[in-house]
Amino acid sequence: VTERGQTLREHAEVPRQRRVLVVEDNEVNYELASALLEFMGHDVSWARDGVSGLDAALSGAFDLVLLDLHIPKKSGREVLRALRDDARASGLPVLVLTAEAMLGTGEAILDGGASAYLSKPFDLDEFRSTVTALMP
Ligand code: MN
Repeated sequence: VTERGQTLREHAEVPRQRRVLVVEDNEVNYELASALLEFMGHDVSWARDGVSGLDAALSGAFDLVLLDLHIPKKSGREVLRALRDDARASGLPVLVLTAEAMLGTGEAILDGGASAYLSKPFDLDEFRSTVTALMP
């Protein structure tokens, strides 16, 4: 914690720490996302497949879900659909991270219930501003 960070904390102007669930099967991608999120001051948990990711997302323990579309056991699209059909996750923002570069994919992802999406590899500033916008 920097000196400036401590001063801010004393004045209670730092937003409360948010809990972010990263559903991602690729360890390198997870390490990058978690490093960025932790740098932003968030607490990060990792689910490596769609089944455990959906369970965790429905637990009520998280403020944001980062969701990879290509994950084992249950696809990201299936997880997203299940979250949007479940009242327990009605207010839970979901940021989809996709490597798909096909035209129209982003629109389809938002139609599927995602709060936002980023194409991998994502721009760091865009990542930070998107995460911040989803957890004001
Ligand atoms: Mn993947």
